[in-house]
Amino acid sequence: MTSEFDVIARYFSRPAQHTAVGVGDDAALLACDPAQQLAVSTDSLVEGTHFFADADPYFLGRKVLAVNLSDMAACGAQPRWATLALTLPYVDPLWLERFSAGFFAMADAYAIDLIGGDTTRGPKSATVTILGTVSDSAFIARSGARANDDVWISGTLGDAALGLAAHEKKALLSDAALSQCLARLNNPEPRVELGLRLRGIATSAIDLSDGLVSDARHIAQASGAALRIEFERLPRSQAIRQLVDPNLANQCVLAGGDDYELLFTAAPDHREALASLSRELNLTLTRVGQVDSGSGVRICDASGADVEIEHAGYDHFA
Ligand code: ADP
Ligand code: MG
Repeated sequence: MTSEFDVIARYFSRPAQHTAVGVGDDAALLACDPAQQLAVSTDSLVEGTHFFADADPYFLGRKVLAVNLSDMAACGAQPRWATLALTLPYVDPLWLERFSAGFFAMADAYAIDLIGGDTTRGPKSATVTILGTVSDSAFIARSGARANDDVWISGTLGDAALGLAAHEKKALLSDAALSQCLARLNNPEPRVELGLRLRGIATSAIDLSDGLVSDARHIAQASGAALRIEFERLPRSQAIRQLVDPNLANQCVLAGGDDYELLFTAAPDHREALASLSRELNLTLTRVGQVDSGSGVRICDASGADVEIEHAGYDHFA
């Protein structure tokens, strides 16, 4: 079994749940509610850049969909369809078995139809394009932060980066901390439900994929506002708090990538609603700062003095 068409038929063709025409024709055909718009986003995972050659394909399959779902979450869209462009050096049935199992496990968790893609030969990479629905009034853009809004962050920061540091022997962790951080790195959970519930509440949002400071700057720039973030308030896991090397901890929290938490802004009169949403979703939501007039991102200590930022975040071409 080596043909491209065998691979598609065997591993990537499943009956679609809510799609008129899915995998197998020249194009997929989607029925759209005329009251909604389509939100579309693409993210790739490339061997050597985003994952190691020996990465477990099950978690790779999950993650390539998860990082795309995270983009839907950040704009308050309901994800519904995905395409998958897969490039492989050769056909490895065991690898494909596990990759597709992971991919469809994540797809099932969020009722996503895989509606098409492309299968080519070359250095290993996987690219997903995700499509979701949202009305233009419910769409949460990066550009909506206004002076006086609160800045919020879901979950905890820096665990994925710490997992990567441990994997590269740059940090020594307890067994429990290591498995928790590696789970955050290899098996991120997209905050889809949170994103949907932030419709009408968040004035802006972004998912944290490149690092807190770098991603916060995107909100500041798009909104024409300044973000002031209190360093001590940043949500840290047990693993981060237990680190003996404070520089590494700060580096992970401020600039670590791959967290896939949401950073969002909301007017102060939503504080109570967000506290109860946090309980309902069983997901920590932490108020970490404020939007000011001006520009850029400031990380400050409790007294308001600037905390120095060494490395802002990940940039493929920096
Ligand atoms: P074409 O040559 O017309 O571009 P392909 O031969 O590339 O079509 O693909 C055949 C069908 O399989 C198409 O419907 C395409 O969307 C789908 N497809 C190809 N690769 C994948 C994949 N990795 N996952 C899901 N669907 C795929
Ligand atoms: Mg093709």
